[in-house]
Amino acid sequence: MTDSIAQVIDGKAEAERSGSELESAAARPSLAEAEAAVKTLLRWAGDDPAREGLLDTPARVARAWEEFFSGYRTDPRALLERTFTETEGYDEMVLLRQVRFESHCEHHLAPIIGCAHIAYLPSHRVVGISKLARVVDAYARRLQIQEKMTVQIANTINDVLEPNGVAVVIEAAHQCMTTRGVHKPGVSMVTSCMLGQFRSNATTRREFLALVGTPQGGTQVYG
Ligand SMILES: [Zn+2]
Repeated sequence: MTDSIAQVIDGKAEAERSGSELESAAARPSLAEAEAAVKTLLRWAGDDPAREGLLDTPARVARAWEEFFSGYRTDPRALLERTFTETEGYDEMVLLRQVRFESHCEHHLAPIIGCAHIAYLPSHRVVGISKLARVVDAYARRLQIQEKMTVQIANTINDVLEPNGVAVVIEAAHQCMTTRGVHKPGVSMVTSCMLGQFRSNATTRREFLALVGTPQGGTQVYG
């Protein structure tokens, strides 16, 4: 178990960087330019963008990218701003398991399919659980590396909810590993970020990891 949770990531700068990513997305090219770029890639693949089956492909790809990368137009911190303070003093762990996500690796634009497990220890605020899932999507629907996404999710929850601790474990399969390169299907990568009491208190961390269950796979691979 602890072998597969091989990495505890520390990072403060990542959450702050999301603001500049949103700004750079504002300087985006036109739809026509995006479609022209897809045509170029079709030619690069060795096909003819003018043949019937590919005529609408650039437009479809552009629409698909709107969906794949909609996270650039979502402010993850704003998703958590509506909180509930009437918690009757609830201060036990809140855990969301198996939050499925689809992302894309920033090195190959290949899909990353996986799930996130998120927990926090409320201090004075709790948030609707669907909002935590939306934070996952806001970061997943960008070009990513799994390590960075793990830290971004944890830091955002930590900064906005100011809880006593945050734990995020992500396990995912990277298609840049399964369909190209080393061609190793069935490998999942596991990353984790522990903040506050999840980092300082081994009992709290163990409780979280036991509730999450043993991640499938477990080989730590970077691709
Ligand atoms: Zn990749």
